[in-house]
Amino acid sequence: MIKIALSKGRIFKETLPLLAAADIQPAEDPETSRKLILDTNHDDVKLVIIRATDVPTYVQFGAADVGVAGKDVLMEHGGEGIYEPLDLGIAKCRLMTAGLVNAKPVRRRKRIATKFVNVARTFFESRGEQVEVIKLYGSMELGPIVGLSDMIVDVVDTGNTLRANGLAPIDHIADISARLIVNKAAMKMKHQPIQSLIDSIGGAIG
Ligand code: AMP
Repeated sequence: MIKIALSKGRIFKETLPLLAAADIQPAEDPETSRKLILDTNHDDVKLVIIRATDVPTYVQFGAADVGVAGKDVLMEHGGEGIYEPLDLGIAKCRLMTAGLVNAKPVRRRKRIATKFVNVARTFFESRGEQVEVIKLYGSMELGPIVGLSDMIVDVVDTGNTLRANGLAPIDHIADISARLIVNKAAMKMKHQPIQSLIDSIGGAIG
């Protein structure tokens, strides 16, 4: 049995053609089904539908053998127990810091609002800057507007969301795309089917 962890929405839609290249087709559409485990056209392949931020955790602990996760989510998780054999080249964006256009410099420690608390700490530490990191679960752009934080760390695609809220990107932290990830133990124990999945998907990447 091979369990593949995926999140709904953009990652699922963009991963479907890659799975099809490995002859894996879900029996149901996760956008309309309430099932958390979807059957496929193979009795021994199941899709586990979970939140994007939970995908590395499921794969780390072997609850799923394989998964598709954004590099942003993997950086925040840390990657323990996980191999990352393929850059799928999908769901591309950038991990950036951003702040208010015309923000005044602050004399105290900067406050950074983000859901990427580990990434933010590592980034500012690498620049020798002491900051206070505030964990949020969404709408990070609000932080600087309402005075919760001086800056944010978030993923940015077109930059429209930042602009619409009077913010501008400042530092580029990393280029982001979705990655195929594999549980380290499963890579050994189920080597043949997992390697053939990696090869088929690898051959289908544009
Ligand atoms: P933007 O095009 O910069 O306005 O991005 C629109 C929203 O989608 C922003 O709130 C981003 O946080 C989010 N976003 C953009 N690209 C991605 C991606 N590849 N993965 C996850 N979230 C994204």
